[in-house]
Amino acid sequence: MPSITSLISQRIKPSCAVWEITLKCNSNCIHCGSSAGKARLDELNTEESLKLVREIRDCGYKGVALMGGEPLIRDDWYEIAREIKKNKMELSIVTNGLTLIDNIQKLKSLKVDCVSLSLDGGSAKVHDYLRGIPGAFEKTLNAINRLKEEKLPVSVITAVSKTNLNELDKIKKILLDRNIAWQIQIAIPIGRFPRELTISREEFYAVALFIAINVKKYSYKRLPVIGAHCFGHFSRFLPNLGLDPWVGCQAGLSVLGIQSNGNIKGCLTLPDGFIEGNIRTQSLKTILEKIRLKQKQLKGYCVDCDMVKICRGGCLGSSYALKEFDEPYCLRAIENKMFSSKQLPIKGKLDSTISILKNMYHNLIFK
Ligand code: SF4
Ligand code: SF4
Repeated sequence: MPSITSLISQRIKPSCAVWEITLKCNSNCIHCGSSAGKARLDELNTEESLKLVREIRDCGYKGVALMGGEPLIRDDWYEIAREIKKNKMELSIVTNGLTLIDNIQKLKSLKVDCVSLSLDGGSAKVHDYLRGIPGAFEKTLNAINRLKEEKLPVSVITAVSKTNLNELDKIKKILLDRNIAWQIQIAIPIGRFPRELTISREEFYAVALFIAINVKKYSYKRLPVIGAHCFGHFSRFLPNLGLDPWVGCQAGLSVLGIQSNGNIKGCLTLPDGFIEGNIRTQSLKTILEKIRLKQKQLKGYCVDCDMVKICRGGCLGSSYALKEFDEPYCLRAIENKMFSSKQLPIKGKLDSTISILKNMYHNLIFK
């Protein structure tokens, strides 16, 4: 039986370091994968953080995404962000938007490369419920409007669960014709996200269809909607839904995860068993030199899959979180399992594919 380690190239091509600069948060999201709320007791101080920025640069990363918790409520977030720009790396900030307007001048002066706001509902009822904060929806929309007024690059991230599956169309209406990039990802049961709210494979396929339909219907300018980088894998019928073709899990390869206390993982979605070292006791370069994807024995559909050498079993984070079979959110596996040969749509004909699949899944999100 092939294992991940026997299939993977160990070359590391640094692209994006995702850095949780604090676990402190002013939201209380149901689906928070980090169980954020209070800061960790041992978070990196300013001096350690600035040093880490330079280490990230020296290791060849092109960009850093600051997230949390809520990054904009860490007192020295601006100093860390400024050091990232000073070291000629791209700066992204992933925020809930609640304090964004207070920080708008700082974001402008930084020439931030992207501000990504979480929008999990197309209505105050659903968004505020998921975020645990009354008034969060209005504040997020105001933040988006303000970023647009200031001509700062803005994108929106929606984490899909059973609670907001039916909100996608409403969110689309909010974003249409505003040149706002929209990334759809699936909420997985890590942190405090309740497992029972995780969407089924059928619902996942319906979300993939939603993206495919809207990519076809609207130009990229009108609605730049994409799936997260790990969305899908090698559908026989739907086009690639991410920004780039899927080439397997990037944890520890092009992607790096940094916790607020300096722990390093290949990706922040992975459990703590994947902590590869701490920046206080080893240099980032040393940790990267030994970093490897942990062995994951392939099972289920992945074992005999014709794409396994490229794919290596899908998203390591969701596989570990869901533990059902190798990669619950694999379009190829879902298609192989769910469609009998009679139902199989015609390869390359997206219209007929969509109409067949819409009929099969109309009651999920196509109201
Ligand atoms: S079945 Fe497994 S290896 Fe094949 S495409 Fe899906 S996740 Fe990748
Ligand atoms: S664990 Fe999943 S989210 Fe993280 S890099 Fe791998 S594919 Fe991407």
